[in-house]
Amino acid sequence: MALDLVNTVWREHGARMDQFDDLDGVRAWLSDHAMDHDVDGGGAGSGLEAVRDRLVRAREAVRDTLEGRGSAGLNDVLAHGSVRPMMRDGGPYELVVVDEPAWRPAWTAAAAFVRMMAERPSRVRPCAHPECVLWFLDVSKNGSRRWCSMESCGNRAKAGRFSRRHKTTG
Ligand SMILES: [Zn+2]
Repeated sequence: MALDLVNTVWREHGARMDQFDDLDGVRAWLSDHAMDHDVDGGGAGSGLEAVRDRLVRAREAVRDTLEGRGSAGLNDVLAHGSVRPMMRDGGPYELVVVDEPAWRPAWTAAAAFVRMMAERPSRVRPCAHPECVLWFLDVSKNGSRRWCSMESCGNRAKAGRFSRRHKTTG
């Protein structure tokens, strides 16, 4: 989920695209991650705009951490919430407590990022394609995945090698 947040920014024909430019894109992202119920229906999209603002902050904070610019921003985001362990219906349950409802999706994504970095940090990688800005979690058995997606970047890179080879031999 955390990398899905980072990957809401991508490049298309050299231009920077942002899924969150559009509130419908924010809504779709929340829905994909089963967090659309976290947005209050409070008219004129005000709740959604507040959620977007915090998601963008969390996204930049995660990217800063990934790209070696420090984690102060990420820790600022995380300071807006915490997990309270409790028992519910006879079983353990982790209640997420945030200081403001609009922080919940951003906090949840930031916390998921920290969990991922605790579990398999060496498997969190940028796509090897020089023009791609996407990140992925390599869950392959041997850990040798290089592309965000074989269908797009993997094949683009192969096609690039292929045409270069043809130039040098032709
Ligand atoms: Zn890629």
